[in-house]
Amino acid sequence: MTASATPDQRPARPPKPQAILSVQAVEEITPNLIRITAGGEGFDAISNNDATDKYVKIMFADPQHGLTPPYDLADLRENAPEKLPRNRTYTVREINEAEKWVKIDFVVHGDEGIAGPWAKSTQVGDQVVLVGAGGKYAPEADASWHLLIADHTAIPAVSSALEAMPAEATGVLLANVEHAEDRLLPELPAGFDVTWVDSDEALIAAVRELDWPEATPQVFAHGERETIKTIRKVLKDHEVPREALSISAYWAHGRAEDQFQAEKREPIGKIED
Ligand SMILES: Cc1cc2nc3c(=O)[nH]c(=O)nc-3n(C[C@H](O)[C@H](O)[C@H](O)COP(=O)(O)OP(=O)(O)OC[C@H]3O[C@@H](n4cnc5c(N)ncnc54)[C@H](O)[C@@H]3O)c2cc1C
Repeated sequence: MTASATPDQRPARPPKPQAILSVQAVEEITPNLIRITAGGEGFDAISNNDATDKYVKIMFADPQHGLTPPYDLADLRENAPEKLPRNRTYTVREINEAEKWVKIDFVVHGDEGIAGPWAKSTQVGDQVVLVGAGGKYAPEADASWHLLIADHTAIPAVSSALEAMPAEATGVLLANVEHAEDRLLPELPAGFDVTWVDSDEALIAAVRELDWPEATPQVFAHGERETIKTIRKVLKDHEVPREALSISAYWAHGRAEDQFQAEKREPIGKIED
């Protein structure tokens, strides 16, 4: 039997390509929602995929450290970990490979954090560094029905999913978006019902009170961590099999994303299977 390599002996993984882009447009869709288009030659470092929930990590380096991208993360980790850029995860709402740009919708959630305030203040010509894309879910054309459950952070992914569905798709969207002006969606398949609510509690209640058809749905459920944990239990009561489920937390109350991501390795950060 070969002894397995210890972490120190494993060959270092090659660094992920960093796409160094320029902000090309900033649209204030509503006071709480900002759409940023970023593109340019650095676009080729993005690896596209077919997921409708495709996402990138945006790297924010503190300007006071004077770093220029691409960032040498291995060197920073070793020699100046305090200067490491902070990652924030965002859905790619739209991607255009021919014109080399992506569009990302940022929820503005007050003055806290890095990405939200950045979206509010960024201007055309600013640099932005992305890594990715990841993503796993896409609506299946032969799903008997779709159940989409989202808060404001998952509306971009839900919108891309709705656009990818055939006109005859049927389903239900339960969405928690506080302000009426932010309740924006693309055109829906005719057989889709939407319920808007304005709190996590109401979202959980809407899932509980749903008039559940007999057939198994394909489910996409993403949003605030504790809410998603409770919704997972309700889906379990309805015996939705794991393979029909795309479910994860996109953020957690009181946690900056660094802590939120680190907690995924601890019991508090896990959504039960
Ligand atoms: C796969 C994936 C896709 C995502 N897609 C999107 C997207 O398309 N658009 C989008 O806006 N977000 C999206 N998110 C969520 C986004 O990554 C988080 O909201 C992130 O924490 C924002 O970073 P920040 O620097 O603004 O705030 P942080 O520094 O991470 O957090 C600062 C404080 O703000 C709170 N906070 C963070 N986000 C929110 C929020 N949305 N509402 C209220 N309070 C919040 C935190 O609890 C913390 O107390 C996605 C997350 C994942 C994992």
